[in-house]
Amino acid sequence: MNIDKICAVYKSPWVYGRYVVSEDLEGLYKELSVDFKLETQGISVEGRAIKSVQVGRGSTRVLMWSQMHGNESTTTKAVADLLCFLNSNEAMAQSFKSQFTLLIIPILNPDGAENYTRVNANEVDLNRDSINLSQPESRCLRNVFDQFRPHYAFNLHDQRTIFAAGKTKNPATISFLAPSYNEAREVNACRLEAMQLIVTMNKELQKYLPNSIGRFDDGFNLNCIGDYFQSRGVPTILFEAGHFPRDYEREVTRSEVFRALLTILTNINSKDFKNIRINDYLAIPENEKSFRDVLFTNVQSIYTDSGKKDRVWVQYKEVLIDKIINFAPTIVAINIEEGLQAHLVVDVPVKWKVSEPDINELIDGNLLELIDLGQLSVNELLKK
Ligand SMILES: [Zn+2]
Repeated sequence: MNIDKICAVYKSPWVYGRYVVSEDLEGLYKELSVDFKLETQGISVEGRAIKSVQVGRGSTRVLMWSQMHGNESTTTKAVADLLCFLNSNEAMAQSFKSQFTLLIIPILNPDGAENYTRVNANEVDLNRDSINLSQPESRCLRNVFDQFRPHYAFNLHDQRTIFAAGKTKNPATISFLAPSYNEAREVNACRLEAMQLIVTMNKELQKYLPNSIGRFDDGFNLNCIGDYFQSRGVPTILFEAGHFPRDYEREVTRSEVFRALLTILTNINSKDFKNIRINDYLAIPENEKSFRDVLFTNVQSIYTDSGKKDRVWVQYKEVLIDKIINFAPTIVAINIEEGLQAHLVVDVPVKWKVSEPDINELIDGNLLELIDLGQLSVNELLKK
């Protein structure tokens, strides 16, 4: 079975959508064969187990962790698919297990996952804690890193819908970064290897996501985990799962991250990547923050009856209610363009009425609460 087929077939049914918590993975863990070693590597602030899965008997050690930011679950779903695949009898799965020892922490921040927050239960961003090690989750990852001594490290995240792949009109559905290891952002052998492996994934993913792959900003901060591990001489790769048109559940992106993981593991083995040059990495366009979720055009009299037509830019705020993520449309700008583009443009056919006439007070307000729409609700408009 080739990678294409594998991505279509292996989808773990235990995880779906945006809200993914540790408990969801228990079903998957039970399905895994005796080849897989399940361990608790640490305990979170609120007392949840931070679990890892180890598989393979190969000499190349790869460490990957996901949901360091609790509300970034897409890569966790991809990792679940990878585990599901490795649990099969596919020839590629057997080959991976003979060549690699993989250590995977699917949810590093189980409290953040539960509460659907970026930060942990002490409100610390774990990706700014790699030197301070002030949090149990950060210490857990550091211990695993020191004991496992990986040859490669994959730092798995989600990025917001605001990112475009460079100057294109496409969202950055996936972005990568070979993090800097010093302030000067120099390229040593370790960082070069991370760049080369990213190029191999970019090449493959371009077939499915043309001009929709971005390169994340490489500003240096040693308290960021990727920068720190890179400084320790381990080629570290940041994966950022992003938006695919209309895919707010990030199920398309999930498959593409899975494809990226299969591709990079195949390429680490082949060693062909060693000929790739830095310029091929730099040719991947850097992320631009040009997208907003929705642009409502021709909004008549949003705050007065002056007859003026307004353009209202909306971003969804993700709100956890009863274990479901709700996407609350929130006004982020009115009439400001500044090279902005929207994932969805909706021409408003009815007069909107707003109780509060001060335009500044509309910004950051929930669209649904602010606007009396007459016959058409915002949700109906968004379905068009
Ligand atoms: Zn993140």
